[in-house]
Amino acid sequence: MSPVKFKANQRAPLYRDVPDEKWNDWRWQLSNRLNTVEDFEKVLPLTESERKALNAQGLFRVDITPYFISLINPEDPHDPIRLQVVPRAEEIVPFTGMMEDSLAEDRHSPVPGLVHRYPDRVLMLVTTQCASYCRYCTRSRIVGDPGATFSRAEFEMQLEYLRRTPQVRDVLLSGGDPLTLAPKLLEELLSRLREIEHIEIIRIGSRVPVFLPQRVTQELCDMLARYHPLWMNIHVNHPNEITQELADACDRLTRAGVPLGNQSVLLAGVNDCVHIQRRLVQDLVRIRVRPYYLYQCDLVEGAGHFRTPVAKGIEIIEGLRGHTSGYAVPTYVVDAPGGGGKIPLMPNYLVSMSDHKIVLRNYEGFITTYEEPIEYHPHDPKTCPYCQNPRVEPGQSGITGLLEGEAMFIKPEHFDELHNRGGGVHRLRANDEKWKPLGIGDVHHPDEP
Ligand SMILES: *Cc1c(COP(=O)(O)O)cnc(C)c1O
Repeated sequence: MSPVKFKANQRAPLYRDVPDEKWNDWRWQLSNRLNTVEDFEKVLPLTESERKALNAQGLFRVDITPYFISLINPEDPHDPIRLQVVPRAEEIVPFTGMMEDSLAEDRHSPVPGLVHRYPDRVLMLVTTQCASYCRYCTRSRIVGDPGATFSRAEFEMQLEYLRRTPQVRDVLLSGGDPLTLAPKLLEELLSRLREIEHIEIIRIGSRVPVFLPQRVTQELCDMLARYHPLWMNIHVNHPNEITQELADACDRLTRAGVPLGNQSVLLAGVNDCVHIQRRLVQDLVRIRVRPYYLYQCDLVEGAGHFRTPVAKGIEIIEGLRGHTSGYAVPTYVVDAPGGGGKIPLMPNYLVSMSDHKIVLRNYEGFITTYEEPIEYHPHDPKTCPYCQNPRVEPGQSGITGLLEGEAMFIKPEHFDELHNRGGGVHRLRANDEKWKPLGIGDVHHPDEP
């Protein structure tokens, strides 16, 4: 049991008489999920907008566990949990600039369900099913559709690709939600991955501890512990999601040796507030979950109403860094549309830089200078065994990257042009006169031609 106490056993009045054995059984929770106007009306009075969305054709799948819907205050149409899982009319309005596969994951898939975008790690989509469905889902193009789920043959192809690709040392299981897989299937998946020697770590991305903490049984934790080193990222967006049930599930996972991180999404009306975020990250570290990423909401069709300006994310990080434990501060990232990967964004603490002195500001706005060393004797790559035998050579991975293996500098006079090109990945070529190749250790001077 978690040593930290949070609100426990919240149940909507509809579930008052459900026996504990049923309520605490993840199978009962899954088979009693809510998804129709009639279901919802038994728990909360729907707004016009929600009713309209629920009656629309082609709506992204809706399903909410009794446990999770019970965390909503039924009187509040703006409840932060409600906004995440109950569809609103804005969802069915097409929004220009939105994309089906905004991160171009399908283009980076050497085999179906495997996204290989970074040199040493892959994303493996193992199911399209979730315990409940987030209205801003970045993979709503495939998630929720039981017909689109990955087949045994595709799984064998994924394994074959991993066996033949020794630079992959980190496999990130996602989907859908890997913890919704049948327990036997999940264990088979983990044991088959563990047979591949070059796979050093396995990661699971899951919102099951949040939607369905009942699934995180001691039995599941014992099984996961057989496949270490195994890490897990959960997905909590608002402090109201941190209940005693979640705290206990996280306690079981960490005691099984699974380090926990959190990935949250910055969502308009839900958590676009530094006070909410500070409470969220502080409560997360209390349950031993390390905030990992705060994502800018992706350009997904049907999720336009969740988007915030990027400045809001930077303002939140500004309000966390220095103001609270460093452990509690996530990295704010924009996943670049078109497949550029995650790009970290930070408030600027470097005010200016010259050869021997840099000017910095701290979290309170206090300005300070830092003297650079006059003499610097760097380590010698010629005698360094790590430099002599790098594990991943640039370009070895065969993945198309933003820079195609070369560090490039865009000349300032072409910034406007880049802005005007709009979203997507822009491939830079060494022979393109607008881009200047940058050698390692080179310093760029803005006034240089
Ligand atoms: C996010 C992501 C990863 C993992 O990135 P980390 O920064 O290592 O957490 C890997 N592959 C893809 C395609 C991703 O989107």
